[in-house]
Amino acid sequence: MESFRVASGFKRRVLIVDDELVNREILSNIFKDTYDVTCVCDGSEAWEILHSETRDFSLVLLDLLMPNMDGFELLERIKGDDTLKSIPIIVMTSEKDAEVRSIRQGAADFITKPYDMPEVILARCERIIELSEDKNTIRSAEKDVLTGLYTRGFFFEYIRQIDELIDASMDALVFNIDRFHLVNEIYGRRVGNEVLVKVAQIISDIMGPHAAISGRPEGDTFFVYCTHLDSYDEIIERIRAELNSAFANLRLRTGIYQNVDKSIDAQTRFDRAKIAADRVRGDYSTSVAYYSSELHDRSLYSERLINDIDDAIRNEDLKVYFQPKYEVTGDVPRLRSAEALVRWVHPELGLISPGDFVPLFESNGLIRKVDNYVWEHAAAYVKQWRDRYGFTLPVSVNVSRIDIYDPELEQKFKNILAVNGLTEKELLLEITESAYSEDAGKLIEVVESLRHRGFKVEMDDFGSGYSSLNMITTLPIDVLKLDMKFVRNMGKDDKSLKLVELIIDIARFLDVPVVAEGVETEEQLNTLKKMGCEIIQGYYFSKPVPAEEFVLFIEKEINS
Ligand code: C2E
Ligand code: CA
Ligand code: CA
Repeated sequence: MESFRVASGFKRRVLIVDDELVNREILSNIFKDTYDVTCVCDGSEAWEILHSETRDFSLVLLDLLMPNMDGFELLERIKGDDTLKSIPIIVMTSEKDAEVRSIRQGAADFITKPYDMPEVILARCERIIELSEDKNTIRSAEKDVLTGLYTRGFFFEYIRQIDELIDASMDALVFNIDRFHLVNEIYGRRVGNEVLVKVAQIISDIMGPHAAISGRPEGDTFFVYCTHLDSYDEIIERIRAELNSAFANLRLRTGIYQNVDKSIDAQTRFDRAKIAADRVRGDYSTSVAYYSSELHDRSLYSERLINDIDDAIRNEDLKVYFQPKYEVTGDVPRLRSAEALVRWVHPELGLISPGDFVPLFESNGLIRKVDNYVWEHAAAYVKQWRDRYGFTLPVSVNVSRIDIYDPELEQKFKNILAVNGLTEKELLLEITESAYSEDAGKLIEVVESLRHRGFKVEMDDFGSGYSSLNMITTLPIDVLKLDMKFVRNMGKDDKSLKLVELIIDIARFLDVPVVAEGVETEEQLNTLKKMGCEIIQGYYFSKPVPAEEFVLFIEKEINS
Protein backbone atom coordinates (compact mmCIF):
# COMPACT_ATOMS: atom_id res chain seq x y z
CA MET A 1 0.00 0.00 0.00
CA GLU A 2 2.72 2.44 1.05
CA SER A 3 4.87 1.79 -1.98
CA PHE A 4 1.87 2.20 -4.24
CA ARG A 5 1.08 5.54 -2.70
CA VAL A 6 4.61 6.82 -3.26
CA ALA A 7 5.05 5.26 -6.66
CA SER A 8 1.84 6.61 -8.10
CA GLY A 9 2.70 10.13 -6.93
CA PHE A 10 -1.00 10.64 -6.33
CA LYS A 11 -2.05 12.54 -3.24
CA ARG A 12 -5.16 11.55 -1.35
CA ARG A 13 -7.61 14.30 -0.60
CA VAL A 14 -8.43 15.52 2.88
CA LEU A 15 -11.29 17.86 3.73
CA ILE A 16 -10.82 20.09 6.78
CA VAL A 17 -14.02 21.51 8.26
CA ASP A 18 -13.45 24.13 10.97
CA ASP A 19 -14.87 27.59 11.57
CA GLU A 20 -11.68 28.96 13.14
CA LEU A 21 -9.04 30.25 10.79
CA VAL A 22 -6.18 29.40 13.18
CA ASN A 23 -7.22 25.78 13.35
CA ARG A 24 -7.55 25.52 9.60
CA GLU A 25 -4.06 27.00 9.20
CA ILE A 26 -2.45 24.65 11.70
CA LEU A 27 -4.10 21.55 10.23
CA SER A 28 -3.35 22.51 6.64
CA ASN A 29 0.29 22.93 7.56
CA ILE A 30 0.38 19.51 9.11
CA PHE A 31 -1.29 17.82 6.14
CA LYS A 32 -0.30 19.74 3.08
CA ASP A 33 2.94 17.87 2.29
CA THR A 34 1.32 14.45 2.31
CA TYR A 35 -2.23 15.25 1.20
CA ASP A 36 -4.17 17.36 -1.15
CA VAL A 37 -5.98 19.61 1.36
CA THR A 38 -9.29 21.49 1.01
CA CYS A 39 -10.57 23.71 3.84
CA VAL A 40 -14.12 24.91 4.50
CA CYS A 41 -15.69 26.92 7.37
CA ASP A 42 -18.82 24.99 8.27
CA GLY A 43 -20.95 21.91 7.77
CA SER A 44 -23.10 23.26 4.97
CA GLU A 45 -20.07 24.30 2.92
CA ALA A 46 -18.60 20.86 3.49
CA TRP A 47 -21.83 19.15 2.44
CA GLU A 48 -21.87 21.16 -0.74
CA ILE A 49 -18.27 20.43 -1.66
CA LEU A 50 -18.65 16.72 -0.93
CA HIS A 51 -21.47 16.64 -3.45
CA SER A 52 -20.00 18.77 -6.15
CA GLU A 53 -16.45 17.48 -6.37
CA THR A 54 -15.62 14.85 -8.91
CA ARG A 55 -12.72 13.24 -7.03
CA ASP A 56 -13.45 11.49 -3.78
CA PHE A 57 -12.09 12.57 -0.42
CA SER A 58 -10.18 9.98 1.57
CA LEU A 59 -10.76 11.63 4.92
CA VAL A 60 -12.82 14.37 6.58
CA LEU A 61 -11.41 16.22 9.62
CA LEU A 62 -14.40 17.66 11.40
CA ASP A 63 -14.79 20.33 14.06
CA LEU A 64 -17.95 19.82 16.11
CA LEU A 65 -18.95 23.31 17.13
CA MET A 66 -19.60 25.47 14.12
CA PRO A 67 -22.25 27.97 12.96
CA ASN A 68 -24.80 27.06 10.24
CA MET A 69 -24.44 23.30 10.20
CA ASP A 70 -22.47 21.86 13.09
CA GLY A 71 -20.24 18.80 13.08
CA PHE A 72 -22.84 16.43 14.53
CA GLU A 73 -25.35 17.24 11.85
CA LEU A 74 -22.81 16.88 9.04
CA LEU A 75 -21.64 13.57 10.50
CA GLU A 76 -25.20 12.29 10.58
CA ARG A 77 -25.85 13.37 7.01
CA ILE A 78 -22.66 11.84 5.63
CA LYS A 79 -23.32 8.54 7.36
CA GLY A 80 -26.83 8.51 5.96
CA ASP A 81 -25.66 9.13 2.40
CA ASP A 82 -24.98 6.01 0.32
CA THR A 83 -22.36 7.64 -1.82
CA LEU A 84 -20.47 9.30 1.05
CA LYS A 85 -20.81 6.98 4.00
CA SER A 86 -17.60 5.07 3.35
CA ILE A 87 -15.44 8.20 3.79
CA PRO A 88 -13.82 8.04 7.26
CA ILE A 89 -14.39 11.03 9.54
CA ILE A 90 -12.15 12.16 12.37
CA VAL A 91 -13.67 14.65 14.78
CA MET A 92 -11.69 17.34 16.54
CA THR A 93 -12.81 18.27 20.02
CA SER A 94 -11.73 18.82 23.57
CA GLU A 95 -14.79 17.43 25.32
CA LYS A 96 -15.06 13.83 26.46
CA ASP A 97 -18.87 13.70 25.98
CA ALA A 98 -18.65 14.87 22.42
CA GLU A 99 -16.02 12.25 21.66
CA VAL A 100 -18.25 9.40 22.74
CA ARG A 101 -21.29 10.80 20.96
CA SER A 102 -19.47 11.28 17.68
CA ILE A 103 -17.93 7.83 17.71
CA ARG A 104 -21.45 6.42 18.27
CA GLN A 105 -22.60 8.41 15.26
CA GLY A 106 -20.02 6.77 13.08
CA ALA A 107 -16.86 8.85 13.38
CA ALA A 108 -13.74 6.75 12.88
CA ASP A 109 -11.61 8.44 15.52
CA PHE A 110 -11.03 11.75 17.30
CA ILE A 111 -8.21 14.19 17.79
CA THR A 112 -8.10 16.40 20.85
CA LYS A 113 -7.53 20.08 20.69
CA PRO A 114 -5.19 21.90 20.99
CA TYR A 115 -3.07 20.26 18.31
CA ASP A 116 0.35 19.81 19.76
CA MET A 117 1.92 16.72 18.22
CA PRO A 118 1.75 16.95 14.41
CA GLU A 119 3.46 13.59 13.83
CA VAL A 120 0.91 11.81 15.99
CA ILE A 121 -2.00 13.45 14.21
CA LEU A 122 -0.55 12.60 10.84
CA ALA A 123 0.15 8.97 11.74
CA ARG A 124 -3.33 8.55 13.17
CA CYS A 125 -5.01 9.90 10.07
CA GLU A 126 -2.81 7.78 7.85
CA ARG A 127 -3.88 4.66 9.73
CA ILE A 128 -7.58 5.52 9.56
CA ILE A 129 -7.37 6.02 5.79
CA GLU A 130 -5.57 2.73 5.36
CA LEU A 131 -8.07 0.89 7.52
CA SER A 132 -10.99 2.30 5.63
CA GLU A 133 -9.44 1.50 2.26
CA ASP A 134 -8.72 -2.05 3.35
CA LYS A 135 -12.25 -2.44 4.62
CA ASN A 136 -13.61 -1.24 1.32
CA THR A 137 -11.42 -3.63 -0.65
CA ILE A 138 -12.45 -6.57 1.50
CA ARG A 139 -16.10 -5.71 1.14
CA SER A 140 -15.67 -5.07 -2.53
CA ALA A 141 -14.47 -8.58 -2.99
CA GLU A 142 -18.05 -9.73 -2.67
CA LYS A 143 -20.19 -6.64 -2.93
CA ASP A 144 -19.66 -3.49 -4.86
CA VAL A 145 -18.99 -0.75 -2.27
CA LEU A 146 -21.05 1.86 -4.04
CA THR A 147 -24.25 -0.03 -4.83
CA GLY A 148 -24.07 -3.07 -2.58
CA LEU A 149 -24.67 -5.36 -5.58
CA TYR A 150 -22.47 -8.38 -6.25
CA THR A 151 -19.22 -7.84 -8.08
CA ARG A 152 -18.52 -9.78 -11.25
CA GLY A 153 -16.64 -12.75 -9.80
CA PHE A 154 -19.07 -13.38 -6.95
CA PHE A 155 -22.08 -12.82 -9.18
CA PHE A 156 -20.91 -15.56 -11.53
CA GLU A 157 -20.01 -17.81 -8.61
CA TYR A 158 -23.55 -17.49 -7.21
CA ILE A 159 -25.00 -18.24 -10.61
CA ARG A 160 -23.04 -21.49 -10.58
CA GLN A 161 -24.49 -22.32 -7.16
CA ILE A 162 -28.02 -21.39 -8.23
CA ASP A 163 -27.73 -23.62 -11.27
CA GLU A 164 -26.65 -26.49 -9.08
CA LEU A 165 -29.53 -25.99 -6.67
CA ILE A 166 -32.45 -25.36 -8.95
CA ASP A 167 -33.48 -26.80 -12.23
CA ALA A 168 -35.76 -23.98 -13.41
CA SER A 169 -35.49 -22.03 -16.65
CA MET A 170 -33.53 -18.85 -16.09
CA ASP A 171 -33.18 -15.48 -17.84
CA ALA A 172 -30.10 -13.25 -18.08
CA LEU A 173 -30.67 -9.48 -18.14
CA VAL A 174 -28.22 -6.71 -18.84
CA PHE A 175 -29.03 -3.10 -18.01
CA ASN A 176 -26.92 -0.24 -19.21
CA ILE A 177 -27.41 3.47 -18.58
CA ASP A 178 -27.63 5.30 -21.86
CA ARG A 179 -24.86 7.90 -22.31
CA PHE A 180 -23.81 7.60 -18.69
CA HIS A 181 -20.48 9.27 -19.47
CA LEU A 182 -22.45 12.46 -20.14
CA VAL A 183 -23.94 12.36 -16.65
CA ASN A 184 -20.42 12.23 -15.24
CA GLU A 185 -19.11 14.90 -17.55
CA ILE A 186 -21.95 17.35 -17.04
CA TYR A 187 -22.94 16.83 -13.40
CA GLY A 188 -19.76 15.39 -11.92
CA ARG A 189 -18.94 12.02 -10.47
CA ARG A 190 -20.86 12.61 -7.29
CA VAL A 191 -24.15 12.79 -9.18
CA GLY A 192 -22.96 9.94 -11.39
CA ASN A 193 -22.55 7.83 -8.26
CA GLU A 194 -25.99 8.78 -7.01
CA VAL A 195 -27.44 7.67 -10.32
CA LEU A 196 -25.67 4.31 -10.05
CA VAL A 197 -26.89 3.79 -6.49
CA LYS A 198 -30.45 4.65 -7.47
CA VAL A 199 -30.46 2.42 -10.53
CA ALA A 200 -29.07 -0.47 -8.47
CA GLN A 201 -31.78 0.06 -5.90
CA ILE A 202 -34.59 0.20 -8.47
CA ILE A 203 -33.34 -2.92 -10.20
CA SER A 204 -32.97 -4.97 -7.04
CA ASP A 205 -36.30 -3.75 -5.60
CA ILE A 206 -38.24 -4.61 -8.73
CA MET A 207 -36.39 -7.78 -9.70
CA GLY A 208 -36.02 -9.11 -6.15
CA PRO A 209 -39.47 -10.79 -6.03
CA HIS A 210 -38.54 -12.81 -9.11
CA ALA A 211 -35.87 -14.83 -7.33
CA ALA A 212 -33.22 -12.67 -8.85
CA ILE A 213 -29.66 -11.88 -7.98
CA SER A 214 -28.19 -8.63 -9.17
CA GLY A 215 -24.64 -7.58 -9.84
CA ARG A 216 -22.70 -4.60 -11.06
CA PRO A 217 -19.81 -6.09 -13.03
CA GLU A 218 -18.45 -2.69 -13.98
CA GLY A 219 -19.24 0.99 -14.49
CA ASP A 220 -22.82 1.57 -15.54
CA THR A 221 -23.64 -2.04 -16.40
CA PHE A 222 -25.94 -4.14 -14.23
CA PHE A 223 -26.62 -7.87 -14.47
CA VAL A 224 -29.67 -9.74 -13.25
CA TYR A 225 -30.15 -13.51 -13.23
CA CYS A 226 -33.70 -14.60 -12.48
CA THR A 227 -36.29 -17.29 -12.98
CA HIS A 228 -37.84 -17.19 -16.41
CA LEU A 229 -40.64 -14.77 -17.25
CA ASP A 230 -42.54 -14.83 -20.52
CA SER A 231 -42.98 -11.09 -20.59
CA TYR A 232 -40.93 -8.29 -19.14
CA ASP A 233 -43.18 -5.50 -20.43
CA GLU A 234 -44.60 -4.64 -17.04
CA ILE A 235 -41.26 -4.84 -15.26
CA ILE A 236 -39.49 -2.69 -17.81
CA GLU A 237 -42.28 -0.14 -17.59
CA ARG A 238 -42.05 -0.02 -13.79
CA ILE A 239 -38.29 0.41 -13.92
CA ARG A 240 -38.66 3.17 -16.48
CA ALA A 241 -41.28 4.98 -14.40
CA GLU A 242 -39.27 4.80 -11.18
CA LEU A 243 -36.09 5.88 -12.88
CA ASN A 244 -37.77 8.84 -14.53
CA SER A 245 -39.30 10.02 -11.30
CA ALA A 246 -35.78 10.13 -9.83
CA PHE A 247 -33.92 11.40 -12.88
CA ALA A 248 -35.84 12.79 -15.83
CA ASN A 249 -34.32 12.04 -19.24
CA LEU A 250 -32.29 9.10 -18.07
CA ARG A 251 -32.70 5.94 -20.10
CA LEU A 252 -31.81 2.41 -19.16
CA ARG A 253 -31.14 0.09 -22.08
CA THR A 254 -32.09 -3.49 -21.39
CA GLY A 255 -31.02 -6.66 -23.15
CA ILE A 256 -32.71 -9.93 -22.24
CA TYR A 257 -31.60 -13.46 -22.98
CA GLN A 258 -34.49 -15.74 -22.01
CA ASN A 259 -34.28 -19.42 -21.11
CA VAL A 260 -30.51 -19.37 -21.02
CA ASP A 261 -28.61 -22.32 -22.37
CA LYS A 262 -27.05 -23.69 -19.19
CA SER A 263 -24.42 -25.60 -21.10
CA ILE A 264 -22.64 -22.34 -21.96
CA ASP A 265 -20.74 -20.41 -19.31
CA ALA A 266 -22.36 -17.58 -17.40
CA GLN A 267 -20.20 -14.91 -19.00
CA THR A 268 -21.35 -15.95 -22.47
CA ARG A 269 -24.99 -15.87 -21.38
CA PHE A 270 -24.55 -12.26 -20.35
CA ASP A 271 -22.61 -11.49 -23.52
CA ARG A 272 -25.72 -12.56 -25.38
CA ALA A 273 -27.97 -10.34 -23.30
CA LYS A 274 -25.52 -7.52 -23.98
CA ILE A 275 -25.71 -8.08 -27.74
CA ALA A 276 -29.44 -7.43 -27.38
CA ALA A 277 -28.88 -4.35 -25.19
CA ASP A 278 -26.47 -2.90 -27.76
CA ARG A 279 -29.15 -3.19 -30.41
CA VAL A 280 -31.20 -0.57 -28.57
CA ARG A 281 -28.42 2.01 -28.63
CA GLY A 282 -29.51 4.22 -31.48
CA ASP A 283 -33.19 3.33 -31.34
CA TYR A 284 -35.17 5.71 -29.18
CA SER A 285 -38.53 4.10 -29.81
CA THR A 286 -37.74 1.32 -27.35
CA SER A 287 -35.39 0.57 -24.50
CA VAL A 288 -35.44 -3.19 -24.51
CA ALA A 289 -34.37 -5.93 -26.91
CA TYR A 290 -34.45 -9.69 -26.70
CA TYR A 291 -31.64 -11.94 -27.74
CA SER A 292 -32.45 -14.22 -30.64
CA SER A 293 -30.48 -16.49 -32.89
CA GLU A 294 -31.06 -14.03 -35.70
CA LEU A 295 -29.53 -11.29 -33.59
CA HIS A 296 -26.69 -13.61 -32.81
CA ASP A 297 -26.04 -14.22 -36.49
CA ARG A 298 -26.18 -10.54 -37.22
CA SER A 299 -23.69 -9.71 -34.52
CA LEU A 300 -21.37 -12.46 -35.74
CA TYR A 301 -21.72 -11.02 -39.23
CA SER A 302 -20.81 -7.52 -37.97
CA GLU A 303 -17.83 -8.93 -36.15
CA ARG A 304 -16.76 -10.71 -39.28
CA LEU A 305 -16.94 -7.51 -41.32
CA ILE A 306 -14.98 -5.56 -38.71
CA ASN A 307 -12.45 -8.34 -38.65
CA ASP A 308 -12.07 -8.54 -42.43
CA ILE A 309 -12.03 -4.89 -43.47
CA ASP A 310 -8.24 -4.48 -43.25
CA ASP A 311 -7.73 -7.47 -45.53
CA ALA A 312 -10.35 -6.13 -47.90
CA ILE A 313 -8.45 -2.87 -48.20
CA ARG A 314 -5.11 -4.60 -48.59
CA ASN A 315 -6.43 -7.02 -51.22
CA GLU A 316 -8.47 -4.35 -52.99
CA ASP A 317 -11.71 -6.24 -52.46
CA LEU A 318 -13.50 -2.93 -52.13
CA LYS A 319 -14.71 -1.84 -55.55
CA VAL A 320 -15.64 1.67 -56.50
CA TYR A 321 -18.82 1.85 -58.58
CA PHE A 322 -19.95 4.94 -60.45
CA GLN A 323 -23.38 6.37 -60.99
CA PRO A 324 -23.73 9.09 -63.64
CA LYS A 325 -25.24 12.52 -63.00
CA TYR A 326 -26.83 14.18 -66.01
CA GLU A 327 -27.54 17.82 -66.68
CA VAL A 328 -31.06 18.04 -68.09
CA THR A 329 -31.45 21.71 -68.97
CA GLY A 330 -31.14 21.21 -72.73
CA ASP A 331 -32.93 18.89 -75.14
CA VAL A 332 -30.38 16.13 -74.71
CA PRO A 333 -29.15 15.10 -71.23
CA ARG A 334 -25.41 15.64 -70.84
CA LEU A 335 -23.10 13.60 -68.61
CA ARG A 336 -21.62 16.07 -66.13
CA SER A 337 -20.20 14.02 -63.29
CA ALA A 338 -20.56 10.77 -61.36
CA GLU A 339 -20.86 9.66 -57.78
CA ALA A 340 -18.40 7.10 -56.46
CA LEU A 341 -20.16 4.43 -54.39
CA VAL A 342 -18.37 1.61 -52.66
CA ARG A 343 -19.10 -2.13 -52.91
CA TRP A 344 -17.36 -4.93 -51.08
CA VAL A 345 -16.67 -8.08 -53.02
CA HIS A 346 -15.91 -10.41 -50.15
CA PRO A 347 -14.01 -13.59 -51.11
CA GLU A 348 -16.38 -15.75 -49.04
CA LEU A 349 -19.48 -13.68 -48.33
CA GLY A 350 -19.90 -12.37 -51.88
CA LEU A 351 -21.09 -8.89 -52.84
CA ILE A 352 -21.89 -6.73 -49.83
CA SER A 353 -23.74 -3.45 -50.33
CA PRO A 354 -22.74 -0.31 -48.42
CA GLY A 355 -26.02 -0.36 -46.52
CA ASP A 356 -24.69 -3.43 -44.71
CA PHE A 357 -21.35 -2.04 -43.62
CA VAL A 358 -21.29 1.77 -43.89
CA PRO A 359 -23.55 2.37 -40.85
CA LEU A 360 -21.58 -0.25 -38.88
CA PHE A 361 -18.26 1.37 -39.73
CA GLU A 362 -19.66 4.82 -39.07
CA SER A 363 -20.47 3.71 -35.55
CA ASN A 364 -16.93 2.54 -34.82
CA GLY A 365 -14.85 4.91 -36.90
CA LEU A 366 -13.60 2.34 -39.42
CA ILE A 367 -15.45 4.25 -42.14
CA ARG A 368 -12.44 6.57 -42.36
CA LYS A 369 -10.32 3.77 -43.79
CA VAL A 370 -13.01 2.90 -46.31
CA ASP A 371 -13.48 6.52 -47.32
CA ASN A 372 -9.77 7.12 -47.83
CA TYR A 373 -9.64 4.05 -49.99
CA VAL A 374 -12.60 5.19 -52.09
CA TRP A 375 -11.25 8.74 -52.47
CA GLU A 376 -7.88 7.45 -53.68
CA HIS A 377 -9.37 4.98 -56.13
CA ALA A 378 -12.00 7.39 -57.43
CA ALA A 379 -9.32 10.00 -58.10
CA ALA A 380 -7.15 7.44 -59.88
CA TYR A 381 -10.05 6.64 -62.22
CA VAL A 382 -10.64 10.31 -62.99
CA LYS A 383 -7.01 10.60 -64.00
CA GLN A 384 -7.15 7.39 -66.02
CA TRP A 385 -10.19 8.58 -67.98
CA ARG A 386 -8.69 11.98 -68.59
CA ASP A 387 -5.53 10.36 -69.92
CA ARG A 388 -7.47 7.93 -72.06
CA TYR A 389 -10.25 10.17 -73.41
CA GLY A 390 -8.83 13.65 -72.99
CA PHE A 391 -12.06 14.34 -71.15
CA THR A 392 -12.39 15.42 -67.57
CA LEU A 393 -15.33 13.97 -65.69
CA PRO A 394 -15.52 15.20 -62.11
CA VAL A 395 -16.41 12.53 -59.57
CA SER A 396 -18.05 13.16 -56.25
CA VAL A 397 -17.03 11.11 -53.23
CA ASN A 398 -18.88 10.62 -49.97
CA VAL A 399 -17.42 12.22 -46.87
CA SER A 400 -18.70 10.72 -43.60
CA ARG A 401 -19.63 12.65 -40.52
CA ILE A 402 -16.59 11.23 -38.76
CA ASP A 403 -14.22 12.43 -41.50
CA ILE A 404 -15.16 15.97 -40.53
CA TYR A 405 -13.21 15.47 -37.30
CA ASP A 406 -10.08 14.26 -39.07
CA PRO A 407 -7.51 17.04 -38.60
CA GLU A 408 -5.70 15.84 -41.71
CA LEU A 409 -8.77 15.80 -43.93
CA GLU A 410 -7.72 18.73 -46.09
CA GLN A 411 -4.17 17.49 -46.42
CA LYS A 412 -5.41 14.05 -47.44
CA PHE A 413 -7.45 15.51 -50.28
CA LYS A 414 -4.55 17.70 -51.32
CA ASN A 415 -2.27 14.67 -51.48
CA ILE A 416 -4.76 12.65 -53.48
CA LEU A 417 -5.08 15.48 -55.99
CA ALA A 418 -1.33 15.93 -56.19
CA VAL A 419 -0.65 12.23 -56.75
CA ASN A 420 -3.06 12.17 -59.69
CA GLY A 421 -2.37 15.65 -61.02
CA LEU A 422 -5.99 16.70 -60.50
CA THR A 423 -7.51 20.03 -59.51
CA GLU A 424 -10.07 20.72 -56.80
CA LYS A 425 -12.76 20.94 -59.49
CA GLU A 426 -12.35 17.28 -60.36
CA LEU A 427 -13.01 15.69 -56.99
CA LEU A 428 -16.30 16.87 -55.52
CA LEU A 429 -17.17 16.24 -51.90
CA GLU A 430 -20.58 15.00 -50.77
CA ILE A 431 -21.14 15.69 -47.10
CA THR A 432 -24.28 14.37 -45.50
CA GLU A 433 -26.64 16.82 -43.91
CA SER A 434 -26.77 14.79 -40.69
CA ALA A 435 -23.25 16.08 -39.92
CA TYR A 436 -24.87 19.47 -39.41
CA SER A 437 -27.29 18.43 -36.69
CA GLU A 438 -24.46 16.62 -34.94
CA ASP A 439 -22.07 19.54 -34.68
CA ALA A 440 -23.02 22.53 -36.77
CA GLY A 441 -20.08 24.67 -35.66
CA LYS A 442 -17.50 22.07 -36.61
CA LEU A 443 -19.12 21.35 -39.95
CA ILE A 444 -19.27 25.03 -40.88
CA GLU A 445 -15.61 25.43 -39.98
CA VAL A 446 -14.51 22.45 -42.08
CA VAL A 447 -16.72 23.23 -45.07
CA GLU A 448 -15.62 26.86 -45.13
CA SER A 449 -12.00 25.84 -45.02
CA LEU A 450 -12.40 23.24 -47.78
CA ARG A 451 -14.24 25.69 -50.01
CA HIS A 452 -11.63 28.32 -49.30
CA ARG A 453 -9.09 25.85 -50.65
CA GLY A 454 -11.12 25.53 -53.82
CA PHE A 455 -13.06 22.32 -53.15
CA LYS A 456 -16.70 22.01 -54.20
CA VAL A 457 -19.01 20.78 -51.49
CA GLU A 458 -22.34 19.10 -52.18
CA MET A 459 -24.81 18.84 -49.33
CA ASP A 460 -26.01 15.24 -49.48
CA ASP A 461 -29.41 14.00 -48.26
CA PHE A 462 -30.73 17.53 -47.99
CA GLY A 463 -34.04 17.68 -46.14
CA SER A 464 -33.47 14.48 -44.18
CA GLY A 465 -32.41 16.24 -40.98
CA TYR A 466 -34.15 18.41 -38.46
CA SER A 467 -32.37 21.63 -39.23
CA SER A 468 -32.27 21.78 -43.00
CA LEU A 469 -33.53 25.34 -43.25
CA ASN A 470 -31.21 26.51 -40.57
CA MET A 471 -28.36 24.79 -42.29
CA ILE A 472 -28.92 26.17 -45.72
CA THR A 473 -28.85 29.74 -44.43
CA THR A 474 -25.73 29.35 -42.28
CA LEU A 475 -23.64 26.94 -44.30
CA PRO A 476 -22.23 28.03 -47.63
CA ILE A 477 -22.32 25.12 -50.09
CA ASP A 478 -21.94 24.63 -53.83
CA VAL A 479 -24.61 22.06 -54.62
CA LEU A 480 -27.67 20.85 -52.82
CA LYS A 481 -28.55 17.19 -53.16
CA LEU A 482 -32.19 16.60 -52.49
CA ASP A 483 -32.82 13.63 -50.25
CA MET A 484 -34.14 10.68 -52.19
CA LYS A 485 -37.34 10.41 -50.16
CA PHE A 486 -38.66 13.68 -51.68
CA VAL A 487 -38.46 12.30 -55.18
CA ARG A 488 -40.06 9.07 -54.01
CA ASN A 489 -42.96 10.91 -52.35
CA MET A 490 -43.44 13.43 -55.12
CA GLY A 491 -45.92 11.29 -57.02
CA LYS A 492 -47.83 10.31 -53.89
CA ASP A 493 -49.47 13.57 -52.92
CA ASP A 494 -49.67 17.21 -53.77
CA LYS A 495 -48.06 18.38 -50.56
CA SER A 496 -44.84 16.47 -51.22
CA LEU A 497 -44.76 17.83 -54.71
CA LYS A 498 -45.12 21.38 -53.41
CA LEU A 499 -42.34 20.75 -50.92
CA VAL A 500 -39.90 19.80 -53.66
CA GLU A 501 -40.89 22.90 -55.59
CA LEU A 502 -40.30 25.01 -52.51
CA ILE A 503 -36.84 23.59 -51.88
CA ILE A 504 -35.84 24.15 -55.49
CA ASP A 505 -37.12 27.74 -55.22
CA ILE A 506 -35.09 28.37 -52.08
CA ALA A 507 -32.01 26.89 -53.73
CA ARG A 508 -32.52 29.11 -56.77
CA PHE A 509 -32.88 32.12 -54.48
CA LEU A 510 -29.58 31.21 -52.84
CA ASP A 511 -28.06 30.54 -56.24
CA VAL A 512 -27.23 26.92 -55.43
CA PRO A 513 -27.87 24.24 -58.07
CA VAL A 514 -29.97 21.23 -57.06
CA VAL A 515 -29.20 17.60 -57.79
CA ALA A 516 -32.15 15.22 -57.54
CA GLU A 517 -31.17 11.64 -56.85
CA GLY A 518 -33.24 8.49 -56.88
CA VAL A 519 -34.97 9.47 -60.11
CA GLU A 520 -36.34 6.31 -61.60
CA THR A 521 -39.06 7.31 -64.07
CA GLU A 522 -39.48 9.65 -67.00
CA GLU A 523 -42.41 11.24 -65.20
CA GLN A 524 -40.23 12.14 -62.21
CA LEU A 525 -37.59 13.47 -64.54
CA ASN A 526 -40.02 15.73 -66.37
CA THR A 527 -41.61 17.03 -63.19
CA LEU A 528 -38.22 17.93 -61.73
CA LYS A 529 -37.08 19.49 -64.99
CA LYS A 530 -40.15 21.70 -65.05
CA MET A 531 -39.44 22.87 -61.52
CA GLY A 532 -36.00 23.97 -62.56
CA CYS A 533 -33.89 21.11 -61.24
CA GLU A 534 -30.77 20.97 -63.36
CA ILE A 535 -29.00 17.76 -62.48
CA ILE A 536 -30.46 14.28 -62.21
CA GLN A 537 -29.03 11.08 -60.80
CA GLY A 538 -30.89 7.81 -60.59
CA TYR A 539 -31.83 4.47 -62.04
CA TYR A 540 -33.61 6.31 -64.86
CA PHE A 541 -30.16 6.88 -66.32
CA SER A 542 -28.24 4.10 -64.64
CA LYS A 543 -27.58 2.15 -61.50
CA PRO A 544 -24.12 2.52 -60.00
CA VAL A 545 -21.85 0.38 -62.21
CA PRO A 546 -18.23 -0.82 -62.11
CA ALA A 547 -15.62 1.40 -63.78
CA GLU A 548 -15.30 -0.94 -66.80
CA GLU A 549 -18.98 -0.45 -67.49
CA PHE A 550 -19.04 3.22 -66.64
CA VAL A 551 -16.58 4.09 -69.41
CA LEU A 552 -19.36 3.22 -71.87
CA PHE A 553 -21.25 6.29 -70.61
CA ILE A 554 -18.15 8.40 -71.16
CA GLU A 555 -17.65 7.01 -74.66
CA LYS A 556 -21.28 7.64 -75.53
CA GLU A 557 -21.01 11.20 -74.28
CA ILE A 558 -17.88 11.86 -76.32
CA ASN A 559 -19.46 10.44 -79.46
CA SER A 560 -22.70 12.38 -79.13
P1 C2E B 1 -26.06 8.05 -50.78
O1 C2E B 1 -24.77 8.76 -50.72
O2 C2E B 1 -27.30 8.86 -50.56
O3 C2E B 1 -26.06 7.33 -52.19
C1 C2E B 1 -27.16 7.14 -52.98
C2 C2E B 1 -27.70 5.75 -52.87
O4 C2E B 1 -28.93 5.69 -53.59
C3 C2E B 1 -26.81 4.68 -53.50
O5 C2E B 1 -26.99 3.48 -52.78
C4 C2E B 1 -27.42 4.51 -54.87
O6 C2E B 1 -27.17 3.26 -55.44
C5 C2E B 1 -28.88 4.66 -54.56
N1 C2E B 1 -29.67 5.10 -55.71
C6 C2E B 1 -29.25 5.90 -56.71
N2 C2E B 1 -30.23 6.09 -57.60
C7 C2E B 1 -31.30 5.39 -57.16
C8 C2E B 1 -32.64 5.19 -57.66
O7 C2E B 1 -33.04 5.71 -58.70
N3 C2E B 1 -33.47 4.42 -56.93
C9 C2E B 1 -33.06 3.85 -55.77
N4 C2E B 1 -33.94 3.08 -55.11
N5 C2E B 1 -31.82 3.99 -55.27
C10 C2E B 1 -30.95 4.77 -55.97
P2 C2E B 1 -25.76 2.65 -52.30
O8 C2E B 1 -24.71 2.65 -53.33
O9 C2E B 1 -26.30 1.35 -51.82
O10 C2E B 1 -25.23 3.49 -51.09
C11 C2E B 1 -26.01 3.67 -49.95
C12 C2E B 1 -25.38 4.64 -49.03
O11 C2E B 1 -24.15 4.14 -48.55
C13 C2E B 1 -25.01 5.98 -49.68
O12 C2E B 1 -26.10 6.82 -49.76
C14 C2E B 1 -23.96 6.47 -48.73
O13 C2E B 1 -24.56 7.06 -47.60
C15 C2E B 1 -23.27 5.21 -48.32
N6 C2E B 1 -22.04 5.04 -49.09
C16 C2E B 1 -21.84 4.44 -50.29
N7 C2E B 1 -20.53 4.52 -50.63
C17 C2E B 1 -19.89 5.19 -49.65
C18 C2E B 1 -18.54 5.59 -49.41
O14 C2E B 1 -17.62 5.38 -50.21
N8 C2E B 1 -18.28 6.26 -48.26
C19 C2E B 1 -19.28 6.55 -47.38
N9 C2E B 1 -18.95 7.20 -46.29
N10 C2E B 1 -20.54 6.19 -47.56
C20 C2E B 1 -20.86 5.52 -48.69
CA1 CA C 1 -23.89 10.50 -51.60
CA1 CA D 1 -27.96 10.93 -50.77
